Amino acid sequence: MKVITTIKDMQQEMKKEKQLGRSIGFVPTMGYLHEGHATLLGAARIENEVVALSIFVNPTQFGPNEDFAKYPRDLTKDTALLTDYNVDYIFAPPVEEIYPKGFSTYVNVEGLSDQLEGASRPGHFRGVATIVTILLNTTRPDFAFFGQKDAQQALIIRQLVKDLAIDTEIVILPTVREDSGLAISSRNLYLNAEEQTAATVIHQALSRAKTAYKEGERNGGRLEALIRSTIEVEPRAKVDYVTVADAETLKHIEKLDERPILIALAAYIGKTRLIDNIILNKVKKKDAVGLNV
Ligand code: AMP
Repeated sequence: MKVITTIKDMQQEMKKEKQLGRSIGFVPTMGYLHEGHATLLGAARIENEVVALSIFVNPTQFGPNEDFAKYPRDLTKDTALLTDYNVDYIFAPPVEEIYPKGFSTYVNVEGLSDQLEGASRPGHFRGVATIVTILLNTTRPDFAFFGQKDAQQALIIRQLVKDLAIDTEIVILPTVREDSGLAISSRNLYLNAEEQTAATVIHQALSRAKTAYKEGERNGGRLEALIRSTIEVEPRAKVDYVTVADAETLKHIEKLDERPILIALAAYIGKTRLIDNIILNKVKKKDAVGLNV
């Protein structure tokens, strides 16, 4: 396993692998690795001869009052964990390597970036699209793996890869959860024991909405209200947004039909902001631009 910190070195290593005819699977992360990341690495390993992972807490995707400074980082622990996952390359550049003085090009995926997370976190997806473009240009992978946990992000990346003619297939994998249903996230570290229990209400609320849908509820607003009221029974929880949306356009849908539907939300548990989602009417379509997992 090689740890690489410069773009140039990473490009050279990846080029060498390509020349040897090896396919490259790439997993971008912000580190503080957990089971969700491990699932992406496992899928990358099955499909590719070379597995590369990046660890980079990307400053441009954090707002001024967000948790960039305190976001958990532990490269030593991450590197040790990765020896178990048969990873070939870790790309872990310092911030100045990615954003040197004079950096001035940003990527903005219009439309999809303004809703849901984008409405709550202005500029977030501009930062995400920019870093992912840089990482894909550095690594040039055959496949890149992303989690449904960040559904809007995955959708935006599929769109940017298509629009910018990047020769990488984007693979989206289902959300890995604790036994309690809580979606695994590096930010779960911020939760104390009571908050961990309180946070399970998020998945309970999404599951309730799924059941209601199965039982015939077809009104988007009513499903949103059901989720909101389920979450807010928990005194430590406060909903930021909840949206029942078309899984391809991310626009709110009031009257649900057979289209794939994304139900996405963000909620505060104490001071910690968590996101989660479910997809209804999922379809498997190869080469899809949408959120097919
Ligand atoms: P992060 O390190 O949080 O930026 O996440 C890196 C990648 O792992 C992203 O594609 C995430 O969507 C994915 N990921 C994070 N948490 C999970 C999870 N619980 N299940 C599946 N994928 C996840």
